[in-house]
Amino acid sequence: MFRRTFYILFTISALITFGYSGSVRVVNRTDNSMDDIATLDRLRGTYVSTKDVSRILAKRDPFVNEARGKMVLYLGDHRIKISGNSSYVLVDEQVYQMPMYAIWTKNDIFLPAESFFDIVKRTILPGINYDPRRMVLDIDMKEFTITRVDITQKANGTILRILTRNSFPEGNISSFFHENGWFYLTIAGGLADTTEIRRSDTRGVVRSVAADQLGQTAQLAFQMRTKVENYEIYQSSDPSEIVVSLRTAMDNSLARIKEVKDRWKLDTVVLDAGHGGKDPGTMGRKGTKEKDIALDIVKRVGLLLEKNTKLKVIYTREEDVFIPLWKRTKVANESNGKVFVSVHLNSNPNKTAYGFETYLLRPGKTEDAIEVASRENEAIKLEDRSKGKYQDISGESLIIATMAQSVYMKESEELAAMIQEEIGKKIKSKNRGVKQAGFHVLIGASMPNVLIEAGFLTNANEEKNLRNAKYRQNIANSIYKAIVKFRYSREQYLSES
Ligand SMILES: [Zn+2]
Repeated sequence: MFRRTFYILFTISALITFGYSGSVRVVNRTDNSMDDIATLDRLRGTYVSTKDVSRILAKRDPFVNEARGKMVLYLGDHRIKISGNSSYVLVDEQVYQMPMYAIWTKNDIFLPAESFFDIVKRTILPGINYDPRRMVLDIDMKEFTITRVDITQKANGTILRILTRNSFPEGNISSFFHENGWFYLTIAGGLADTTEIRRSDTRGVVRSVAADQLGQTAQLAFQMRTKVENYEIYQSSDPSEIVVSLRTAMDNSLARIKEVKDRWKLDTVVLDAGHGGKDPGTMGRKGTKEKDIALDIVKRVGLLLEKNTKLKVIYTREEDVFIPLWKRTKVANESNGKVFVSVHLNSNPNKTAYGFETYLLRPGKTEDAIEVASRENEAIKLEDRSKGKYQDISGESLIIATMAQSVYMKESEELAAMIQEEIGKKIKSKNRGVKQAGFHVLIGASMPNVLIEAGFLTNANEEKNLRNAKYRQNIANSIYKAIVKFRYSREQYLSES
């Protein structure tokens, strides 16, 4: 009697402790194959064999550490670490907890089926479905549709790129900032590779990234370092991605600084060859025309800039054509020019006058300067429809035009001084200095601007020199050097501010 009771008790306890062997039926829809996973069936549910799960779902054998009762399962590019007598599972170092302990037995680990398959589905294989009632594991090779998040920090804010395999209807994407400092992005119908997304490198305003799959809805969450002032979200199709740009107060001010810097950055030079076409400008005794010499020098300067710098060069004219004065500054402004250099040749009834001078737009101080400006302004008379385009340039209107340019005056002065200095180094002529007068061609230029009178064609010796290509190359070299120096000093100033 005693022995019999003992036997029955032993049988019951053995059933509870070791369970009885059963199996989970595996249906693979990709190749229509069937398989079985050995199970332990306990009162609290079904446990599946890790070795069998690995055999069916993994491409390589698991790593088994018998002494410590641990196994590593390799699914796709991911690693799942499992320990016997523990309820924790590590998917690529991310911890997941199951409601029951895994059981180490017979050199294998048995995992609570329902919760384990749920973790695998959420993290690595979205195409698996486990039916605990029927004990069937259904495998369909579905792909994640939200695969990765790239975070970059730009001057104007932090950009989140959520890479997707397809685009989603606009209504499926919703986003909001929670007062807890998290930004939530919900994508209905999206299947997120949560493991990969959680591994995203954080940058900029993003402190950490979280991802979860809730049934048919993917939820991504981004923890912010500071308050975000505004954000934009849009979908692009090539590449397929959801882009979120986040801006903080700091980003906004940095973006403004960059905008200002870009606006000031000397990247475009406008070169203006005086006169042209029906307007020859002044003429030397040997018939040398100002329009030809000016164009030649300008082209040489442009060539040097194009060859040796990354500056964009804009010419108001590249051939022998007539261009109205008003159009020259218009071209300069419309091309976003950052400096305007006009090249001319001088004349004087006094044939002994010689040398080079650079002009700024300001009311003329000397009779000579006013005389030079009024001669250069005469081109207006050759324009077909000049009426109304020009104001009287004496007196008050010139003062107003000058004031409009006062922002550029200091820089125009600097550039003029540099040009005079550089030309002085290169050619044997007289440095007549920086002067000022009212030139129509300079009016309205929204950038530092100067007008160079490179020499007197009315002076026999200077005309002879200016007919010499080498002499003109020297002048061009000097102007080129001055522009490069000017740009450098300006960039130094900008980088300090
Ligand atoms: Zn001229």
